[in-house]
Amino acid sequence: MKADKPEDAQRQGLRERLETILIRTEKATPWHDEADRLRGLVNQDGYVPIRTRLAVEDLDFLSEARSELLRFSELGLRLLDLHQPRDAGGITSDTAHPILRCRSCMWRWPCPTFRAMSESFGAPHDSSDTTLSESA
Ligand SMILES: [Zn+2]
Repeated sequence: MKADKPEDAQRQGLRERLETILIRTEKATPWHDEADRLRGLVNQDGYVPIRTRLAVEDLDFLSEARSELLRFSELGLRLLDLHQPRDAGGITSDTAHPILRCRSCMWRWPCPTFRAMSESFGAPHDSSDTTLSESA
């Protein structure tokens, strides 16, 4: 896709890093069902000794997953702090439902940033929609 104006280097770099995380994560094996199964095998020391086969894509994902997830959750919390509603003031005929605007981007509430976050994180995702069931 080619935009009218070239994307600035900072935005391009950020987009590339996010796309790299997305691709790396998609390639890794989902562990949801396997983690549920292993939870029942925790020993008295609090560990589960396991033997497993990890693909290179899984190792790529696991080596960065914790730090990337920490950064994502910090980003989410910062965005949530930035994008919150406030009374827009002005005159309205509906005093019970005053017009609200985002205090950061000034879009009418809920703003596009908050809606995007809600769509991504508002409800738990169904983790059974991927390929683990084939390998379990
Ligand atoms: Zn906003």
